[in-house]
Amino acid sequence: MLTTDTSFLFAELMDVVRLFGAEDADISHTFARDGVNYVNAVSSGGTVRTFSDVWHAEGELAAKRCAKRSAKLALYEFLSELTGKTFPWGALTGIRPTKMAYAELAEGRDFAPLFKKFRVCEENVNIVRRVLAEQRALYEKNRDAGEDVFVSLPFCPTKCEYCSFITAPYAAVKKYAADYAETLVKEIYSLKGTITRANSVYIGGGTPFCLENDKLERIYAAINEVCGGAEEFTVEAGRPDTFTDEKLAACKRAGVTRICVNPQTFSDETLVRIGRRHTSAQTLRAYEAAARYGFDINVDLIAGLSGETAADFARSLDTAVSLSPANVTVHSLCLKSGSRLKEEVACLRVSDIDEMIAYSRSALTAAGYEPYYLYRQKYQAGANENIGWCRPGKACAYNVDTMEEICSDIAVGAGAISKRVFGGGLRIERLASPKDIPSYLAKADEITRKRRALFA
Ligand code: SF4
Repeated sequence: MLTTDTSFLFAELMDVVRLFGAEDADISHTFARDGVNYVNAVSSGGTVRTFSDVWHAEGELAAKRCAKRSAKLALYEFLSELTGKTFPWGALTGIRPTKMAYAELAEGRDFAPLFKKFRVCEENVNIVRRVLAEQRALYEKNRDAGEDVFVSLPFCPTKCEYCSFITAPYAAVKKYAADYAETLVKEIYSLKGTITRANSVYIGGGTPFCLENDKLERIYAAINEVCGGAEEFTVEAGRPDTFTDEKLAACKRAGVTRICVNPQTFSDETLVRIGRRHTSAQTLRAYEAAARYGFDINVDLIAGLSGETAADFARSLDTAVSLSPANVTVHSLCLKSGSRLKEEVACLRVSDIDEMIAYSRSALTAAGYEPYYLYRQKYQAGANENIGWCRPGKACAYNVDTMEEICSDIAVGAGAISKRVFGGGLRIERLASPKDIPSYLAKADEITRKRRALFA
């Protein structure tokens, strides 16, 4: 168990404890500050270390931030010495490393020294630099301007073993589908007057293509009436077994520009193991069908899936690259509460994960892709990250805007979270809709009123 004499540091320290999987260890921490000198003492099982560091901060708020950073770093060093482990992002445990980089740049400093102080490896410092360069045009265009619109369709054919999302197997919730679509359409129409400029529209899931085409078309029509003119319109169609030519044609007619075909892996054995009921042949057919309509296509892959080796992952990545999609998103497997995987294993041990990530970076770079957005989650295999890669000029605005939180995100549907962003991300106010479908249907009007107030 972790104890500290400084309560506001507890949460930060626990992030590092979890990183090392040291939740069961007895660790004691004390903190003291004398001007610019920050001193953290850590002890566990007879080992005692004191870490003194100099941090320059103006004002109490900044001093508190430095205290958190110094404590995190001290505990990282301590546990690293004790266990012999290091991690690619060092003591950085936040979801958005790029935000930290932008904050440094805003202060007129390069971010590399701070990242290196946090023991972030050179390779990751370079990846962040490449992400910032690739997303710059969108970042400058959308920062503090316009809104993104997210539409939630939380239905899937079956549940994947690693999924903690609210989505339910479609057969179990189909009885709500008609009401859901109607309520959603009403919510979308309620956004008239709230949207000043739709930077992008993103229909996500779940697996939006689970829904019948007539319902999807009603949703597209409402979106076009309310958000007409958005340059980017993504449908995260999802699982290849839900693709039909009719649905793709409807997307084309509705002005959809980007479609996600999400194989996760091209290994049929793995697909069975992780609870997806499509095959890699279906993925290839779905991809070809979507490509015929000229959509920008995103392909999602996951590194570290149950039972996969580095060679398995490399085969999937090579197959994805051979299709030449506009975007490839590489996720590191994540152990999430509420997933079947979490019930089965206490912690993720994917021995080849670093090799998989290294391969994805070198193969995608060699194929002409650049990383354009990046985020991390708690409990990711090898404490790695998720990276969206794009062909030149094909960065997805929705992903950049929402990941960097540079403009407001207006979200409708069950489990959707609207964010009003002030000052290009300096302050954010949120509004969450109920996650389960019956509660959402019951509270949609109330949510609409609250959203109007949030964006008034
Ligand atoms: S397709 Fe996505 S949302 Fe649906 S069960 Fe699988 S991981 Fe969850």
